[in-house]
Amino acid sequence: MILNIRIGYGIDVHRLEKNLPLFIGGLQIESELGAVGHSDADVLLHAICDALLGAANLRDIGYHFSDTDPKFKGIDSKILLTEVMKLIEGKGYHVVNVDCTVVLERPKLNPHIPEIQKFVAAILKVDIDGVSIKATTHERVDSFGESRAVKAYAACLLNK
Ligand code: MG
Repeated sequence: MILNIRIGYGIDVHRLEKNLPLFIGGLQIESELGAVGHSDADVLLHAICDALLGAANLRDIGYHFSDTDPKFKGIDSKILLTEVMKLIEGKGYHVVNVDCTVVLERPKLNPHIPEIQKFVAAILKVDIDGVSIKATTHERVDSFGESRAVKAYAACLLNK
């Protein structure tokens, strides 16, 4: 039997600084610190993009959307994820589910997770049950624990 399922994973990191917005999973989160990046610096959507691209063996987010290209300056990462969906659909795949973890010391992400799930599920064309988002801190240790950076991991399953 030939299985047409493919696993993928992605990781992303962005520095945190004052006077910047913090976008996570397509949602702007109220926060003292925001993420630094060429796009809107949405760490979760970038990790999901890389998971999907990896599963379809389509390189990585930086390969498709260069962080030096002025075309992508400040771009809404929901647009990038939508473009990634077109790429994987072009290879005949659809998303089964994603499972993600965001490492952020503060603010607490948990209250925002249902809304983020809705955004992500709509773009990935899956039920909300197909989008798992987990939040964790870094126990005040290292750059993530000291709120100098935010990190996200995403794993996904695609089917043909
Ligand atoms: Mg990124």
